[in-house]
Amino acid sequence: VFVSFEGGDGAGKSTQARLLAQWAHEHGREVVLTREPGGTTLGQTLRDAVLHGEHVDARTEALLYATDRAHHVASLVRPALARGALVVTDRYLDSSVAYQGSGRDLGADEVERLSLWATGGLLPAVTVLLDVDPDLGRARLTGSPDRLESAGDEFHRRTRQAFLDRAAAEPGRWLVLDGTGDPDSLAQAVRTRVAPLLGL
Ligand code: C5P
Repeated sequence: VFVSFEGGDGAGKSTQARLLAQWAHEHGREVVLTREPGGTTLGQTLRDAVLHGEHVDARTEALLYATDRAHHVASLVRPALARGALVVTDRYLDSSVAYQGSGRDLGADEVERLSLWATGGLLPAVTVLLDVDPDLGRARLTGSPDRLESAGDEFHRRTRQAFLDRAAAEPGRWLVLDGTGDPDSLAQAVRTRVAPLLGL
């Protein structure tokens, strides 16, 4: 079973991904907790390059994320799913559609096609959107901002709207939660949605 967490920076994705993984592990399931970009060794190199390396144009950025994702899916996600593991990823292709497609204006449809090509069409069974106002999300972050976190307000508003639009267009896959809710209640809502898929 493949589950992704999506949303803006500081929405609580990493926390909720970890809580879901812990819960499933405690119930005896094999769990792989991972993230994009950077879920593999090559991916970590690509993450450093795209977030902290020399400035690249939007198409190059989109291809670097797609490369990270192709390798992540081929080397880690698909083999784990084939073993019957639960794979929980902190970001997946919807981040590219939202950030590169809408935020960077490359076009959501084109970036979706690129992402589906990179992954051989692999989509999560459930995608959890943790929706928060971008200003609030960024206020929650600690440490020095990376390139994207310091992008303009308009960029972050477009990205948030793109996530909401995708969720509305494909309600069967998405679970939309208010990221300002308390973490335990959010975790419970995620479990309720995922439990039947794990036979729990
Ligand atoms: O959530 P995480 O810290 O892993 O994201 C790293 C940065 O990369 C964030 O600033 C996020 O906005 C950005 N990002 C992006 N496009 C993606 C995935 C992440 O711009 N496809």
